Amino acid sequence: MAYSREVYDKARSELDRRRENAELVNFQRTEEIRQRFPEIYEQEMRVRNTFFELAAAMLGKGGDAQEAVDKIRAANEEGQRSARRMLKANGYPEDYLDTPYFCMNCKDTGSIGGYTCDCMKLLLRKYAAEELRNVSTIKEQHFENARFDLYKDERVRASMMQMTDFFQKYCRDFKWKDENRSMLFLGSTGTGKTFFASCIATELISQGVAVTFASAYELFSALEEEKFKNKQTDSKSAAIHSDLLIIDDLGSEFKTAFTEAELFGIINSRINLSLPTIVTTNLSSEELKRLYNDRITSRIFGFLPCRFSGGDMRTMLAKGSL
Ligand SMILES: [Zn+2]
Repeated sequence: MAYSREVYDKARSELDRRRENAELVNFQRTEEIRQRFPEIYEQEMRVRNTFFELAAAMLGKGGDAQEAVDKIRAANEEGQRSARRMLKANGYPEDYLDTPYFCMNCKDTGSIGGYTCDCMKLLLRKYAAEELRNVSTIKEQHFENARFDLYKDERVRASMMQMTDFFQKYCRDFKWKDENRSMLFLGSTGTGKTFFASCIATELISQGVAVTFASAYELFSALEEEKFKNKQTDSKSAAIHSDLLIIDDLGSEFKTAFTEAELFGIINSRINLSLPTIVTTNLSSEELKRLYNDRITSRIFGFLPCRFSGGDMRTMLAKGSL
C-alpha cells in the first residue's frame, strides 16, 4: 500500500530513535561493567572481537577457511557462555551486555533481508492512522465515565450496562484481522453511540491498536481535498488499512457520487482484508436503504447491529461530551 512521505519519515525516525536508544543503553552498560568488573568486560570484548576474526576467516585468509571458521565459532560460543555465567554470578541478567533492541528480528533497522519487518509495518499503520486522526474530532473517553446511575428506567440501565460489558470485552479480546467484529451502532441523536465508539477507540489505542476514527463528514472532506485539491496526505490508505476504522455519524456527509463510491471502496476493501469497521448512524435501517445503494447497505447490514435507546444521554453522561 502507499503511505504518504510524512508517514514513512515518522516511522523511520521512530526506528532510528529506538536503535540509537538501544545502542546508548548498551554503551552505558558496557562502561559500567568495564569499571566494576574488568574481567567480565575483557571476556565480553574477546567475544566481540572474534566477530572480526570470523569475518576475516570467512573471507578465506590463509589455510583451510572452513576449519578456521568452525574453530573460531566454537571458541566464541564458549566465550559468550562464560561471559554470561560471569554476569549472572555477579547478580546481572545474563543478557545484560546484549544490545536491547526493541525488535530483535531486524535490530531496529526495519527490514530483514530486503523485506519490511513487521515492526515497521506496525509503525506505518500507526502513523497513517494518526494522520487521519489529526483531522478528526475524536475525544478521549473512558468507559468509567458512563453514568449508569442517571438512567431512570431500570430496563434501559440494565441494557446499557450489558452493552458496556460487551464493548469492554470487545476491547480485551480485540484481534487483528477479524472482520466478524464489525459493528453498526444504530439509534437516534444523543443516545451515546459516539461516546461508546470513542471509549472503544481510546481503549484500543492505549493497547497499541491503530484506530482510525473520523466522522463521515471529516473522512469524506479529507478524501475530497486529497482528490480534488491534491493534498499530500493519504487518508484513504489510513482508512482502508488501519486495524480498526470507526466512521462516526454516517449520513452527516454531503453525499455525492464520489463519496458513495469511496464509502463502498473503503468498506469493501476492509472486508476483503478481514479488517473490522464500526459505523455509527442516526439513520434508521430504512433511511440507510433509501440513502445508499444496495452494494453499501448489504455490507453494513452484515455488521453486528447494536441498538442504542434510552433517551438523550447527553445530559446523563459525565463530562457531557457525546
Ligand atoms: Zn523489526
